[in-house]
Amino acid sequence: MNRIKMTTPIVEMDGDEMTRVLWRWIKQLLIEPYVDLRTEYYDLGLPERDRTDDAVTTAAAEATRRLGVAVKCATITPNAQRVEEYGLKKMWKSPNGTIRRILDGTVFREPILIEGITPYLPGWRKPVVLARHAYGDVYNAVECRVRAGQTAYLVVEDKDGEVSRLKVHGFDGDGIVQGMHNLDGSIASFARSCFGYALERRLPVWFGAKDTISKIYDHRFKDIFDEVYRSEYAEKFAGAGIEYLYTLIDDAVARVVRSEGGVLWACKNYDGDVMSDMVATACGSLGMMSSVLVSPDGKYEYEAAHGTVTRHYYKYLKGEETSTNSVATIWAWSGALRKRGELDGNTALADFADRLERAVVDAISSGCMTGDLVPLFRREGVQARKLSSRAFLQEVAARL
Ligand code: NAP
Ligand code: MG
Repeated sequence: MNRIKMTTPIVEMDGDEMTRVLWRWIKQLLIEPYVDLRTEYYDLGLPERDRTDDAVTTAAAEATRRLGVAVKCATITPNAQRVEEYGLKKMWKSPNGTIRRILDGTVFREPILIEGITPYLPGWRKPVVLARHAYGDVYNAVECRVRAGQTAYLVVEDKDGEVSRLKVHGFDGDGIVQGMHNLDGSIASFARSCFGYALERRLPVWFGAKDTISKIYDHRFKDIFDEVYRSEYAEKFAGAGIEYLYTLIDDAVARVVRSEGGVLWACKNYDGDVMSDMVATACGSLGMMSSVLVSPDGKYEYEAAHGTVTRHYYKYLKGEETSTNSVATIWAWSGALRKRGELDGNTALADFADRLERAVVDAISSGCMTGDLVPLFRREGVQARKLSSRAFLQEVAARL
């Protein structure tokens, strides 16, 4: 068969456990038969990260800066138990964190909506795309306990000494205190990633913070978003017929819940952490949440939002049948191939990505799905059938 040619390779980051198994099958059954696949391959599986002292992760991120498009499999972020399980030299950092730092990117998460799988919020007819600012605030905070009779201050110094001193609280009883920060540069590049991605997808941007209570800290977010929008994006947004809305975070939540979806919801770090779980749950299954990291200068890394599905992997190792949802991982591949096609003017490749997604949608809406989706599926006259991990991919392949 005449396979679709690629001009520029994509960066391929392999991963761990059950998703590594799915990765191989997706390539074999759904991509390689149709596409003369060109990738720069980096094995981000934990054994290889350990062997290379994690240099492979950095190399993969650098390659993404160079080539512009990457697809990543889920990877283990080691904890103490993993250090023992894999006999690691060290508790390596999260690969996603490393890649995000190198690309200075923002993660956009988007549920994959399919006819027959109704979200818990049935009003959401279009996806809510959630962007989380992944720097600072409570995630890089310092904190401690304070005893009765002590006083806590917020002290700022420069090289000549103290610049300001604010009393946080004089403690009558035992308590706690926390200091957190953010950076204008990081907030501005978050704003640029959001506005740029929204423009490309033609989605309005909603951003919420708590500036009524936090008159300097949260207000700074509001001001920077406003500045970036007015100076760099307002005209382009008007041309694309989309809008930017700033509102209080409380109101943003209410608006999103009432909406029909089809918005890009920009969230501060903590709000994004919490609300992305809310959006994922409201849409049914972690296996249906796609994710893309976009840098402010337009580099893309596509992946599934879920992890390596460890529990299923242990079953797989024992030779038991698994029914692991591969949809978000397939979407990572289709997203990367489509973007590569767009950037290279390779219509055949971009069209293939659309066809791949349609084959998945068609399989599920006609009742073929993995176990996680069965209880969510409701469609007149169609009976849901639970398939194994591999049988589901074969169903998609048959339609492709
Ligand atoms: P997980 O792999 O997302 O899985 C948690 C549970 O969610 C699964 O046990 C399964 O529930 C369900 N689930 C998730 N994805 C599914 C899918 N595709 N199909 C069917 N069910 C799915 O999270 P975890 O167990 O907390 O983490 C496992 C490993 O993944 C950890 O080592 C963690 O570091 C890593 N991780 C990586 C990433 C990433 O690379 N982006 C993200 C998160 C976690 P049931 O068991 O009930 O079937
Ligand atoms: Mg969370």
